Amino acid sequence: MTTDVTSAARKTMAKLHRAPEPDVLKPMIERARLDASERKRIVTRAEHLIGDIREAQHRSWVAQFLNEYQLSSQEGLALMTLAEAYLRVPDATTADLLISDKLGDADWRSHSRSSNSRLVNSATFGLILGRVMVGEGEGGGGVVRKLVGRMGEPFVRQAVGAAMRLMGEVFVMGRTIEEAQKRMRKKENRNFTASFDMLGEAARTQKDADDFYESYWDAIDKVGREPDRDHTVSIKLSALHARYETSQYDKCVPEITERLTQLCREAMRQDVAITVDAEEADRLDMSLDIIGAIARNPEFRDWNRYGLAVQAYGKRARAVIEWADTLGRPMNVRLVKGAYWDTEIKRAQVEGLSDYPVFTRKASTDTCYLACAKDMLEAKNIGPAFATHNALTVGTILEWAAERHGKDWRGFEFQRLHGMGEGLYDRLVDEEGYHCRIYAPVGGHKELLAYLVRRLLENGANSSFVNQLADDEYDDAALLADPVEKTAKVGGSMLPQIPLPIDIMGEWKNSQGIDLNDRDTLLDTARKVNAVDFQPEGIDSVHEDPHHPSGRSRAFIEATRTSNDDVHGAITAAQAAYPEWDLRPVEERAGLLEKFADVLEENRIELMGLVVKEAFRSIPDALSEVREAADFCRYYAHRARVDMPSIRLPGPTGEYNAMKLEGRGTFATVSPWNFPLAIFVGQNAAALVTGNTVVAKPAPQTPMIARRIVELAHQCGIPHDAWKLVTGGADVGAELMSDTRIAGVAFTGSIATAKRIASTLLVDEERPIIPFIAETGGINAMIVDSTALPEQVAADVMTSAFRSAGQRCSALRMLILQEDVADEMLAMLSGAMDMLYLGDPGDPATDVGPVIDRDAYDKLMSYRETMRPRWIKTVEAPEEGLFVPPTMISIDEIEDLNREWFGPLVHVTTFKAGKLKETVQRVNAKRYGLTMGLHSRIQKSADIMQTWARVGNLYVNRSQIGAVVGSQPFGGEGLSGTGPKAGGPHYLPRFCAERAVSIDTTSAGGNASLLSLDTGEI
Ligand SMILES: Cc1cc2nc3c(=O)[nH]c(=O)nc-3n(C[C@H](O)[C@H](O)[C@H](O)COP(=O)(O)OP(=O)(O)OC[C@H]3O[C@@H](n4cnc5c(N)ncnc54)[C@H](O)[C@@H]3O)c2cc1C
Repeated sequence: MTTDVTSAARKTMAKLHRAPEPDVLKPMIERARLDASERKRIVTRAEHLIGDIREAQHRSWVAQFLNEYQLSSQEGLALMTLAEAYLRVPDATTADLLISDKLGDADWRSHSRSSNSRLVNSATFGLILGRVMVGEGEGGGGVVRKLVGRMGEPFVRQAVGAAMRLMGEVFVMGRTIEEAQKRMRKKENRNFTASFDMLGEAARTQKDADDFYESYWDAIDKVGREPDRDHTVSIKLSALHARYETSQYDKCVPEITERLTQLCREAMRQDVAITVDAEEADRLDMSLDIIGAIARNPEFRDWNRYGLAVQAYGKRARAVIEWADTLGRPMNVRLVKGAYWDTEIKRAQVEGLSDYPVFTRKASTDTCYLACAKDMLEAKNIGPAFATHNALTVGTILEWAAERHGKDWRGFEFQRLHGMGEGLYDRLVDEEGYHCRIYAPVGGHKELLAYLVRRLLENGANSSFVNQLADDEYDDAALLADPVEKTAKVGGSMLPQIPLPIDIMGEWKNSQGIDLNDRDTLLDTARKVNAVDFQPEGIDSVHEDPHHPSGRSRAFIEATRTSNDDVHGAITAAQAAYPEWDLRPVEERAGLLEKFADVLEENRIELMGLVVKEAFRSIPDALSEVREAADFCRYYAHRARVDMPSIRLPGPTGEYNAMKLEGRGTFATVSPWNFPLAIFVGQNAAALVTGNTVVAKPAPQTPMIARRIVELAHQCGIPHDAWKLVTGGADVGAELMSDTRIAGVAFTGSIATAKRIASTLLVDEERPIIPFIAETGGINAMIVDSTALPEQVAADVMTSAFRSAGQRCSALRMLILQEDVADEMLAMLSGAMDMLYLGDPGDPATDVGPVIDRDAYDKLMSYRETMRPRWIKTVEAPEEGLFVPPTMISIDEIEDLNREWFGPLVHVTTFKAGKLKETVQRVNAKRYGLTMGLHSRIQKSADIMQTWARVGNLYVNRSQIGAVVGSQPFGGEGLSGTGPKAGGPHYLPRFCAERAVSIDTTSAGGNASLLSLDTGEI
């Protein structure tokens, strides 16, 4: 398959993807700038259009409703979350909880008479009624409550349900394609054409993808039967495959290409035009490969009803248009600004990427849109469609189209979304003969929810034109300010409130990521990581079978073991190094850690290679190991500067009181194989920066990574004897703990080992009582109620339970589903499990690698076997290698799981609606307390969890692994650990001795400063 990477436009695209905004925008400003007379005509035109929109809004209760409930108001947000979840809730108990949650606190009364529209007011009244009914009413509601009480709660549910459906209908053309086609025949739509879109979240299972494919096929078929209407179909590639991801390129791109080819073949046969929607920036390269493959397929050479959407908020937008034009065949291009702006910004921050793929100022997006529009109007092969609800944008396009092609030129179309931009195009279409197409979503109520949220966001965001139009604070001059001049004025610079991803942490630098969603970068990274040499000198083989990670050879562990004498020797050396290291200024130690963080990042490929080869972590996991290690160093350096300096304390006159933190001596650290780099670095960095020296014992399975880390630390200037390494298994650990010179212990591992260490530390009566920081495992639960979005749950369960083959202490062990939605959720989870790829950790496609060693494998497999009658779902695993197949196991109740199974096995049970608190308490009763998760749209449920969950880390509506240093300090309580939390503000003091000093400053002969206080002045 041709990937088209060689084309010049694709190369430009790669350069622009994360380029600095001013560089990207400079040529666009030149391209889009207006002269004074042009600008004047455009503004006049836009003013008329604004007048038309305002008039239409007077007629539209929807516009008034959205205006009344702005997203910036509490009520607007409440409505949005209610709308997002309500229609998928099957059970009455949760529906009532959700209504009470969303309608309870907001101030609906302030809206009850404020609107001119009777319908808006009656909708508001309905919402107030709902609030009173569910028992949240304030004084005066009692009468109403009694009244409607007689009608029963179902009445309220029905009323709220109807209101939500009404909101849905505003943005959705019909539940079925037939319904939508019928609606397009109505008077108000008569002069518009439609592009039908099949609603739904991106496919998560093969079944989803098959269903979407069928519905697109059906839509093409039905549209084809109305040839005189010229409707078209829009297709989302993410709907055609459950794993439309760069890491799965080799599978998903050919499969989607094949499916799109079939759909296009049918569309060509039926003479129906197809547009491929634009999705997340990460997917752009793949989508161009797919779109390009069809464009170049000789079968479609003469077909001029094919095209794609291009997002102007993306830095690559112009290059994509150039690419489409250079395909050398007719291509229809729909220019949009882009619907995922907030997601793109967050993703780049989370992944620590060098820059954003999108602009950070709204005016920059507008400038890019205009530059793209100009390109499109002049392009040879492009059929332009301009999708916007912005009157100024429309006015500019009208001006340029006329300028370039003559006043009567109509060789392009406008597009708007159903439910938006009403009034903007009416005159243009009805009186001036321009063509406007309505993007017309089709789907049932459940499917519309995610789409509805996007639309409500678009209507509600302060930056959007439709929102500003409705806002009295913006007059026409502000609405029509020239975006190109605004952009030029700031030189295309970034919005100051949005720092680069590396700067988001403020006081310390965020770690650098690698853009693994860029295919070239991913392949290049994988190649380099796999080429890392991993063959320790003097040892024949690290693994029993070098081709398959089938377990570590005993010889390797023996050969890397430190002798008992050397263990004690290491402590002697570290003790000797302590006074000098502790006396160094904290700034110097912090500076060394920061240097070390930089060096870790400089050597990240090699380190990732070691993690992949020694610990069988996947490539993304290995990257996050390096990032977390660097984060620990920088964060602890920052915290040390805050925590360590002496603080003055109050007291009587003539006394100096102060306290400071200092190192305690030599710490012993014991780290696990499952985070061979991050935890190893984290524990030791904390000990070192606080002035301790340290003897570190990594897990026997991963000594090579540790060895390399310590080597790098020494190269950075951390003294050799300040950080000593000893390697080996439990016997070496015991030897280390038995040495009474140890001043503190930081341990991560099993609860059994933690207890053994704790008792060793207490046995010897002569021995001082020293700090013991322990991180142990957990029976981590995730609770999912019926308001949760199944697609999101599926993604988060896959990540939480199976990433790193379930070998994270935070991993999901017990999924607790509300019984009303359990079957539906399990079907989706099973489908998502089928899409997991098990393989060599060095393969970029791998989701789940082998477990760490044969011991772990045997234990997990034999337990899994005993649970065979209770398997809900399992998947096939490669035959060779220590692969434990991800498995869902049913248990009758929460009490049936009482130990941690450290692998990709997740237990599933159910709970009853309305019993969240009891459920949490039953989980608490296990006395583990590491992580817990909740998926719910009910804020009060999140509050209940925050009040009652006895865990160190609670995660709501997200996965429950991957704690970020400084943002989600990590560590448990009860059987899960002692705290303080790693990566949190209280960690360092635990490594320190607190030393207070009090000095009588008068003892030298009187309190001179007291006597000098009163100078006699009044
Ligand atoms: C027919 C049609 C089809 C569509 N198809 C797609 C599609 O395939 N893919 C897709 O992603 N979207 C699609 N959209 C949605 C589209 O992206 C939004 O409707 C559009 O961005 C709104 O722009 P506007 O010109 O109407 O409004 P405006 O108010 O002028 O622009 C709002 C837009 O500006 C951008 N923006 C907001 N704040 C900032 C900021 N701080 N920095 C930079 N940019 C900012 C965002 O893109 C936001 O949506 C489609 C829209 C229509 C009308």
